[in-house]
Amino acid sequence: MVKAVVGANWGDEGKGKITDMLSKEADIIVRFQGGANAGHTIVNDYGKFALHTLPSGVFYDHTTSIIGNGVALNIPVLFKEVSEIVEKGVPMPKILVSDRAQIVMPYHILFDEYEEERLAGKSFGSTKSGIAPFYSDKYAKIGFQVAELFDEDALKEKLERVIVQKNVLLEHLYHKPALKVDELFATLMEYKKMVEPYVCDVSAFLYNAIKEGKNILLEGQLGSLKDPDHGIYPMVTSSSTLAAYGAIGAGIPPYEIKKIITVVKAYSSAVGAGAFVSEIFGDEADELRRRGGDGGEYGATTGRPRRMGWFDCVASKYGCRIQGTTDVAFTVLDVLGYLDEIPVCVGYEIDGEVTTDFPTTAKLEKAKPVLKVLPGWKEDIRGIKKYEDLPENCRKYIEFVEEQIGFPITMVSNGPGRNDIIYR
Ligand code: GDP
Repeated sequence: MVKAVVGANWGDEGKGKITDMLSKEADIIVRFQGGANAGHTIVNDYGKFALHTLPSGVFYDHTTSIIGNGVALNIPVLFKEVSEIVEKGVPMPKILVSDRAQIVMPYHILFDEYEEERLAGKSFGSTKSGIAPFYSDKYAKIGFQVAELFDEDALKEKLERVIVQKNVLLEHLYHKPALKVDELFATLMEYKKMVEPYVCDVSAFLYNAIKEGKNILLEGQLGSLKDPDHGIYPMVTSSSTLAAYGAIGAGIPPYEIKKIITVVKAYSSAVGAGAFVSEIFGDEADELRRRGGDGGEYGATTGRPRRMGWFDCVASKYGCRIQGTTDVAFTVLDVLGYLDEIPVCVGYEIDGEVTTDFPTTAKLEKAKPVLKVLPGWKEDIRGIKKYEDLPENCRKYIEFVEEQIGFPITMVSNGPGRNDIIYR
């Protein structure tokens, strides 16, 4: 059976923890989109880890971790991550890399940096991991698939062709040093050595795995609102964050995805620019940021403080719908235990009218939050294992959110660890 674990919000919902937890029952975990631009934080018996490229199943020795064709593959980052976890005592994971995955080139990262520099104050708040230039090249058909590393003559010829265009931009738009084909070729040969043992026809592998009845998890990065089509364009990421794309980015039939577990965080956080209707500021935001997640709401990749906000029913309802949610995992609820009262955004007021439908970006920019204040529970709920044992106001909060978003909350996460989970 294939399940997807995806985010309903702006990312950082705790997908890593849910994937790590569900990996216990999984044979294969697949990353199907995104790159090393976002990170998952995982706490388990080996310690605390920030993963950027490796799927969150790498900590179990019974699982195979796959980098699907939809991923922006940064080869040195992948192998750095592997050595970091192995150094901390995690057994060497079984890794497969799709022969159709495309490679993040060193110049993608440079272009990302240079473009942010050029846009200065008007930038998108990129993590400068080369993701946007990477996907631009992929769809402009000048990207490099892993398989291309193995035909050296063709590779060199293509590099020469592609570099001409890159160097025009470098020279005339960015005023930066030109790229040299020989250097790039040498780098790619290094990449080839690193990746060679893991290269695989992933869609064929998964086809057989599905036939054999294996349990497969598709692990999404970021969340619905960062999807390039359905999110807050243009303040989005460059690959689809939706479960539907799991079929494409892994190379499996769409009808095989039987469960879509959408991770929804009990309050909001976002990174980068863009409208964020339920955003809070000042001391209120600082306190939630400091108490949030596991050790504060700071980017796993960049260390940047995240923007904070109250739970947004409008955005989360939409985020769940567009994922095709079958189950909601409601996370980081324990963090809210300090609040006397908990505001929740239940509607958007746009030009004097209140809506619960998530609008397009132009309207979103004008939206003001309609807040409803729910009573807090003022209790530490970590360690609670049964739903009935949660404080009444905490259950009421969950049930209120469930009714507003319209999808069943079947899991409640009340701590960062693997076992901090309440099934309903
Ligand atoms: P992801 O990108 O969706 O995997 O999310 P991140 O890893 O960036 O952010 C989730 C953060 O919250 C991590 O630091 C997790 O360890 C932590 N976390 C996940 N679930 C819970 C939870 O239920 N309670 C608390 N306190 N922290 C959690």
